[in-house]
Amino acid sequence: MKGNFNLGSISGIKIKIHWTFFLLIAWIVFDELERGGSTESILFNIAFVLAVFVCVVLHELGHALTAQYFGVKTEKITLLPIGGVASFDKIPESPKQEILIVIAGPLVNVAIAILLYFITPVNELFNQSFTDAYDIFVSFSFQNFLFILFIANVALALFNMIPAFPMDGGRLLRALLALKFNRAKATLIAASLGQFIAVVFLLVGLLYNPFLVFIALFIFLGAYGENQAVQQMELLKDHTVEEAMLLNITRFKPKDSIDLVVNKIISGTETNFVVVEDGVIKGILYHRKIIENSNKDVLVETVMDTTFKTVKHTDNLKSIYQLIYSGKQKYIPVVNNGELFGAIDATNLNEYIALQAKLAY
Ligand code: ZN
Repeated sequence: MKGNFNLGSISGIKIKIHWTFFLLIAWIVFDELERGGSTESILFNIAFVLAVFVCVVLHELGHALTAQYFGVKTEKITLLPIGGVASFDKIPESPKQEILIVIAGPLVNVAIAILLYFITPVNELFNQSFTDAYDIFVSFSFQNFLFILFIANVALALFNMIPAFPMDGGRLLRALLALKFNRAKATLIAASLGQFIAVVFLLVGLLYNPFLVFIALFIFLGAYGENQAVQQMELLKDHTVEEAMLLNITRFKPKDSIDLVVNKIISGTETNFVVVEDGVIKGILYHRKIIENSNKDVLVETVMDTTFKTVKHTDNLKSIYQLIYSGKQKYIPVVNNGELFGAIDATNLNEYIALQAKLAY
């Protein structure tokens, strides 16, 4: 998702905020003004939303730090108006690890709620008569603030545990199913239930709450996308890079002129190239960079990307899938005994998946 602002990083995990979050703040201000709210009420509401989002960050850090403990890195945590998303660089392989990573998030909210329970007179407030309680709710006291933050954390923990994959409850369900079935089947069941709940959310949302419509779409598309990825990886798990790679690739030398590469793009179907000198891979020429430099009088070596990964022809295709679809590197040279053997990219990986899917069903 584009349009994120950096907030900093904790334990090597970047915290980013999506631009639509500012729309939420603007909407709160607008809504309060519309209802004749005072400066005090506007500031109270903004402070409350920010406090809830701090709790959401802590929730995501609960997932991320538990994952880190099991050797799974989290690249970033993104804050959206509907909640937070932690992006892991790989999937924890054992269902037991995944169970702990999943429940660590809601447990953070439970811990915050317990803490707030002890520092605010929650029972007293719950036992108030309706009118007294109403008086408290419309006052902008610090105590009131902590009380509704307590309720928000209880709600966050409960809402996240709804078994709508890819929400936490759905992930927990998938991990529990994975104890019995294989991961692909467990994901299929959890994602189907997630999409069913998303449709229910959509209908309820259309009638009562537009926010729920966004959450429904997020769940529906999330369940679809993740299920798709898991099913495709399942198709690839017993196959090697050699089966799917491109063999007849054009190589360029560092001192070749960019004109030579541009001519090759026009006359052939290849779009990315490997740069080799004396049998050693020096870099990768990406299509976008070639086009950007096509009208300049430059050499290949100034245009090529020199930070890249290579894979072996015997590597498992499943690991390549994660590398290509994470967007880290979309064209990967394949080596055999240290020498360039071919290359693999998203296009031919997709073709291979399509062929395997044809065989599997
Ligand atoms: Zn969570």
